[in-house]
Amino acid sequence: MRLFRRDNHRRLLRGEEPAYCEGVAKRARKCDAPEMDIITCPRCGARDHLQKDGHNRSGTQRYRCRSCRCAFTPTPKEQGHGAATHEQAVRLYLEGMSLRAIGRRLGVVYQSVANWVAERAADLPAIVSDATPSETVEVDELFTFVERKKGRPSS
Ligand SMILES: [Zn+2]
Repeated sequence: MRLFRRDNHRRLLRGEEPAYCEGVAKRARKCDAPEMDIITCPRCGARDHLQKDGHNRSGTQRYRCRSCRCAFTPTPKEQGHGAATHEQAVRLYLEGMSLRAIGRRLGVVYQSVANWVAERAADLPAIVSDATPSETVEVDELFTFVERKKGRPSS
């Protein structure tokens, strides 16, 4: 049985393949290999005596080890947006897209985009190693300067 997943309209909008969830297969897998068998305690290495212990803030299952009493999340959800999204955001910014437009495109708040661009800028060397003066000057830069000076109130 193939069930069409709810988030598929987003996938289709992004030009991705639609996703299906295999309802029956999923249930069968759970019986064959219960999660408890794979999970080990990160502190004492115990494979059993593990007890489900609610969920963390992002909704991932937490466990508590009954041998050493430590609590842990075996497969925490990745926080943040990932390096690929950062890269794409910076590239779009360099292409001249506005921060808000990038935010809408990538589905993140524009302040995040601003932070990533600032981070990338901070990584750049402060001093340009090639100090050879350039012989050409962009004419429109000068033009803008003159125009601005002319436009200033004379007070
Ligand atoms: Zn333990």
